[in-house]
This record gives sequence, structure tokens and C-alpha cells, in this order.
Amino acid sequence: MNPATPTAAADQAHAWHPFTQHTDWCAAGHEPLVLVEGAGAVLRDSAGREYLDGNSSIWTNLHGHRHPRIDAAIRAQLDRVAHTSFLGFTHPPAAQLAAELVALWPADSLTRVFFSDDGSTAIEVALKMAAQFWQQSGQPERTHFVAFSGAYHGDTLGASSLGGIPTFHDRFAAWQFPVTHVADMDELRALASGTLPQSAFPLPHSIAAVVIEPLIQGAAGMRLWPRGMLAELRAWCDAHGVLLILDEVMTGFGRTGTMFACEQEGVIPDFIALAKGLTGGYLPLAATLTTERIFAAFLGGPERTLYYGHSYTANPLGCAAALASLAIFREENVFARLRDQIAHFTTLLHGLRALPHVADIRQCGFIAGIELRQENGEPFPPAARTGARVCLAARPHGLLTRPILDTLVLLPPYCITPDQLTRAVEAVRLAIGEVCGGG
Ligand SMILES: *Cc1c(COP(=O)(O)O)cnc(C)c1O
Repeated sequence: MNPATPTAAADQAHAWHPFTQHTDWCAAGHEPLVLVEGAGAVLRDSAGREYLDGNSSIWTNLHGHRHPRIDAAIRAQLDRVAHTSFLGFTHPPAAQLAAELVALWPADSLTRVFFSDDGSTAIEVALKMAAQFWQQSGQPERTHFVAFSGAYHGDTLGASSLGGIPTFHDRFAAWQFPVTHVADMDELRALASGTLPQSAFPLPHSIAAVVIEPLIQGAAGMRLWPRGMLAELRAWCDAHGVLLILDEVMTGFGRTGTMFACEQEGVIPDFIALAKGLTGGYLPLAATLTTERIFAAFLGGPERTLYYGHSYTANPLGCAAALASLAIFREENVFARLRDQIAHFTTLLHGLRALPHVADIRQCGFIAGIELRQENGEPFPPAARTGARVCLAARPHGLLTRPILDTLVLLPPYCITPDQLTRAVEAVRLAIGEVCGGG
């Protein structure tokens, strides 16, 4: 074992990491991986070893690390000013970014952009806007939110109230506002039929909004919704006067093969939450887009104002990065290349299906979840931490990623070359064989 580096020593003595058990993290035998550089789809550690960024640095990076265009845009903004307040003032990169985000949608659909800092806050904004909208639109009884089992919408208290993953969310149930979770469209339709006990299920006229991750639930293990379900949900919401909030924090900005996942079913929501990829994965910035109908309900006297905001709302560096990322989409043929990359990815993933421990492979565009099970089809015991051990075993083969329980996640930056993508999937194959055997 190498002597601990100063970074590792300081980290283990003083830092507290997200979703991490520190009995393990701080254990004598654990040396944290220290990442110091990146270029394209590659990250480099403090010992000079290189890895493919297999999950785009937790689902954020789009066009690669140190993309010259985004780097230059941030530097140029830095030469003007790093941060000014969006409370009472405006600035060119935010105004331009709002216009460019709106221009990604059909005319007169989503017309207003509220900036915040991350996916969780983008969801919080949508929840508060929806609740206040109904208060100011003559239907104050619309106070309930409906979300789906297995949902993940972030970790702040409001966003986590929507969460449907017991390990993350159950402990805080007493502090969360009541949300009805449904498994699928059938359960949602049952709300309207009145056949369910009303103490547990709100009637449609008391629902403010339904919230969903369209096409694919990320943290649930890259779980795919049936095709057509999103369009059915939009129709249900319209039939019952319920607002639709889409959480495209993971799926937005090309990850599913189209700019937004909802395009694939011709759906336009009342709110969309965008974050992770908004800045190309460079800086924390989020946006909640909504319609002129919602916006108009907040016009009038001071009592109709949306009293919500954060200190770094619309940070100019983040907006500059986001504008550069959108310019890359327009000018560097990203979607044409992505189409080929997705086809190549599908072929490579197909090659893993024959492995005895690969129970399921779920792909949506450039996102894949590879679910591992025992050869008899039973899940591995959770205490075996099979998914985590496979990801650790992939490191010496030059791949970094994180599992969700025993589902391995591959979600690379779009700039990854065909050869690098082949190597990433090969690293997964080798690591599964080493940990599970029989490969
Ligand atoms: C990551 C994520 C969030 C939360 O975003 P943060 O930036 O981590 O707060 C919300 N929804 C989905 C679908 C996500 O993937």
C-alpha cells in the first residue's frame, strides 16, 4: 500500500462525501482515487493512470472534459465578471441562454426560464410554481402531488418528498409533504375511477401536478417506461386538468438520442427541470422551463410574486458554459455522430447478453443499465455488493463508473470515440468475469 497522499489524508480526515459510508471510506486499507485532470472522455488520477469516464462524471458531462469551446467561453466570461446578482439585475449570458433554451421548443410552448443551481432545486421551483399557480388560479384545493414508484428527483426535502426509493427516502418520511406514489398508468387511472380508498389516494381534482422522469428512471436502475406511456400520461393530465412536470435532469440535452426525451413521444410538459448536462457538465446550473399560462398567473400585485431564489441564480460563468454547449450541438454535428455512437453501443451491449450473470440490459439512447444476477436468476445478496465490486474491478481495465445496486451504469460523454466505447464495454465484460466468474 502506498503511503497516503496529502490529498487522501486531508480528505479522509475532513471531507464528508455524498451517499458514502465513511466507515468504509476512511478505513485504513481504502485509498481514495484522486482525480486531477481530464481531456475528452478520459480522466487522469494523481498517479498518472488514465480512465474512461464511463458515467460522464455522474451523468453530467456531454461533450468531454476540457472542450476548447466551453473552456474558452468560461475564460472569456471570467475576464468580464464571475458573478453578479440576478435579483434585481440581469446580464447578457443569462438573457441569451433563456432565449436559446426557449428556442429549443415549438413556438409559444415553453416560454419562460427560471434559473437555479442543480437538479433538486429545479424540481423545487417547479413544485412551488405549481402549488402557487393553483392558489392564484381559483383552484386552491389542488395541493397533492403524484409521483411514481422508484422515482428519484433529488435530495432537498421537497424534491425528496417525490422520491420513491425507500432506502433514500423512507427515513425522512415524517418531514416530507404527502405525495401519492403510483406504479404505472393503470394505477394512476384508478385514481379517477374512485375505486381506491380515498384516504390513500387523492381524487384528480385535488392533484396539482404529476412528476415523472420521462422514458427512463435513472436512480431506479435505468428502468425503462413502456413506449407510449409518456403520451398517455400527458393525455391523462389534460383530461383531469392536472399539470405535468418532467424531470429531464438526466435525460435532457441529448442523452436519449434526442435533445429532450419527451420529444420522442411528442409531449410538451407544463414544467421541465433541466440541470446536469445544461452546462455540458462543467458548472452547477439548472433551469425550470414553463409556459406563459403558468407565468401569467404570477402577474399582478406583490402577493402574486414567486418568492423563491438562490444567491447564485443564473451564475454568469455557468450560463456562458451552457451557451457554449448549445453552440456545440448546433455547429459540431453532435446528433449525427450520436446516432452512430448509439448504434455502436447497441451492438457492443448485445455482446454482453450471453454472459451468464447479465440478467438484463436496458438501453435508452446513450444510457445503459446492465443488471447482474446469480446464474439461477436470483439477485445477488445485497451484502455481497456485487455491482460495486465489478465497478472496482473495471478500474484496472481503464474504466470508471458507479453501479446502482447490481445494475452497472454506462453513460459516457458523447465525444467518446468508437474505439474508446469498445474498450469501455470490454472493461465491463472483464470485470464481470473477474468478480462473478463464468465469463
Ligand atoms: C441527478 C438527478 C436529480 C437531482 O439533481 P442534483 O443536481 O443532483 O440535485 C433529479 N432528478 C434526476 C432524474 C436526476 O438524475
